[in-house]
Amino acid sequence: THFGYETVPESEKAKKVYKVFENVAQKYDTMNDAMSLGIHRLWKDMLLHAMHPQPGVQLLDVAGGTGDIAFRFLEYVRAQRERQERRAALSTQTPSWRQVAADYAAAGAEAGPPESRAVVCDINKEMLRVGKQKADGAGIGAGLSWVAGDAEELPFGDDQFDVYTIAFGIRNVTRIDQALQEALRVLKPGGRFMCLEFSKVTNPVLSRLYDEYSFKVIPVLGEVIAGDWKSYQYLVESIRKFPDQEEFHHLIEDAGFCCVTHQNFTGGVVALHSGFKL
Ligand code: SAM
Repeated sequence: THFGYETVPESEKAKKVYKVFENVAQKYDTMNDAMSLGIHRLWKDMLLHAMHPQPGVQLLDVAGGTGDIAFRFLEYVRAQRERQERRAALSTQTPSWRQVAADYAAAGAEAGPPESRAVVCDINKEMLRVGKQKADGAGIGAGLSWVAGDAEELPFGDDQFDVYTIAFGIRNVTRIDQALQEALRVLKPGGRFMCLEFSKVTNPVLSRLYDEYSFKVIPVLGEVIAGDWKSYQYLVESIRKFPDQEEFHHLIEDAGFCCVTHQNFTGGVVALHSGFKL
């Protein structure tokens, strides 16, 4: 754990965002379930499904908050390894990852495939604290690190990670282009950028319903569950101000990512963007 890294938000937006997440940290998970009727879990599962990480993959989850993406990642990799081991036990032709590691070592290579690790990086220490508490409580702390840091100035060296994720985080960042540059810098060549974010609802009927729900229901839920109307009003406004699917797609390309794609979930309520560092 590296809570020591000092992150002082500079811009007005950054200060406001910091206060919002400091206020809601304790109730953050409950609010997510209440506001999305639990659907945020499916969106996060779909991100993992699209990522399909193999054992050994190193993940950086930026704006990782209370750890939802990192937990899912470690669980996915664990299940994936078990599947591979079961398959290997049934077939003499497919070596298990342990066998592959042993072969690497025997061949004098520096190391076999390393264990997967996930680094959760967030600017807000309160969100990290709640996440770490959750991980420790569930006994899933192994393979995880919690680092306080700003998406616009990541406290990591170049070419470190196989996958960079940011889920419902990038709209909170003041300079999106700067955050994208940082993502590109810390990824290894061949590494993948994946972003889950609220986007633009394409169907006009769904769009009307969604607007009604967002502006009328969400701040009320915020007040009732977290005692905080304003933070949830900010949330709704920040979603409206964020670039739509196509614009964001272009921003990712402009930052220098290759093979950029995006797909909508739930009619565009959320979009998943992906790109590679070459
Ligand atoms: N990724 C988590 C999830 O999907 O549940 C948390 C998302 S939460 C809506 C947004 C998070 O972004 C907050 O934890 C907030 O502290 C973080 N955040 C905002 N600005 C940031 C920045 N500049 N750098 C890193 N994290 C930031």
